[in-house]
Amino acid sequence: MTDIQTEFAPLLASLPSTVCSIHESVWISPCDLPFSAEVRSMCEVNRCGKYGTSWSCPPGCGEWETLRDEFCACKSAFVFTTCHILEDSFDIEGMQTAAEDHQKLDNAIAEALSRTDLRYIHLGMGTCILCKTCTYPDAPCRHPDKMRRPPEACGIDVCAMSKAIGIRYMNGPDTVTYFSILLFK
Ligand code: SF4
Repeated sequence: MTDIQTEFAPLLASLPSTVCSIHESVWISPCDLPFSAEVRSMCEVNRCGKYGTSWSCPPGCGEWETLRDEFCACKSAFVFTTCHILEDSFDIEGMQTAAEDHQKLDNAIAEALSRTDLRYIHLGMGTCILCKTCTYPDAPCRHPDKMRRPPEACGIDVCAMSKAIGIRYMNGPDTVTYFSILLFK
């Protein structure tokens, strides 16, 4: 175990029981994260409606090549998923609730990390929701050290990553799986 892993493990164990559990997780080298210009360009299609609305999404989150180099300079990456049961594959409400549950876990981990000296970049589920209204593009980000960018917005190919590191991208019919990544500096 590295020093970061040793410090982080008890934090995970101390998370409140009200948040959902981590389904799978693995420590990897940040330089092993697979980046792709194609993944990043999919944001421009704007299927999620968040393109150009936040410092956490393109184009405000920065060029993917710059982010790749910034992330690769980190010491270690903790990739984790949550898995949620849906009523069926059309259960949009269930997917939304699952996304919120994953974000609550992201919040709880960030809160636990705030009690340490560990420095990290948090790539989370969906666009950053730390502020009620994002300052983009009129003023700088209010919390540049805490803001959460979606991995895909940074150009990370999450599907390819999951295969490479042995974490399931999908966990069977009528389930949804969400990913987050903590990059420790
Ligand atoms: S921390 Fe606030 S200002 Fe910064 S990206 Fe998130 S929502 Fe926007």
